[in-house]
Amino acid sequence: MRARRDLPAWQHGWWGGARHVPSPNVSERPAGTRPSLVVLHSISLPPGRYGGDEVEHLFCNTLDCAAHPFFEQLRGLRVSAHFFVRRDGAVLQFASTARRAWHAGVSHWRGRDNCNDWSVGIELEGLEGLRFEPAQYRALRRLLRAVVSVHPIEEIVGHEHVAPVRKRDPGPGFEWARLKRFSGAVRGVDTRTWPGSMRTG
Ligand SMILES: [Zn+2]
Repeated sequence: MRARRDLPAWQHGWWGGARHVPSPNVSERPAGTRPSLVVLHSISLPPGRYGGDEVEHLFCNTLDCAAHPFFEQLRGLRVSAHFFVRRDGAVLQFASTARRAWHAGVSHWRGRDNCNDWSVGIELEGLEGLRFEPAQYRALRRLLRAVVSVHPIEEIVGHEHVAPVRKRDPGPGFEWARLKRFSGAVRGVDTRTWPGSMRTG
């Protein structure tokens, strides 16, 4: 089969459409577990400031926690995500999707715990509750097309849905409908049960 020009190749769980920044904060998925869930997040450091390299440093344990008062609470934190989508649509990758990134924490979805074990984590540069850029939706759709081409993804949810007591990202500023328009490319995804469509308030 001829590779599509708009779908860069994968190698060992690393996507060709991203800049690779390997994080040490990864572990193995449980034996035989393939990711069937995508968990979307939002993050910016310090919150609401975009364009810097602080998130990259956080995920690589190299953030200077003395550089900003907000960073003090991040001292010693060991976290990562598979992908980070910047405001301009640039995509960074910190972990192979074959491995387990540390993004969801204590989490639960449809009767299963520990979403990190069986999900791909995607961070969007932003602030929960606020809007995201058109370039981010374009990049996210392209990334999701690539992810579902190699993993048996069944659902795309937010951190706020798998850890509702603790987390609120990406929040009401994220337009789930913009992913529904793309759902034709996600075979097997049941858009009727997406959080975006379940939310009525
Ligand atoms: Zn999150």
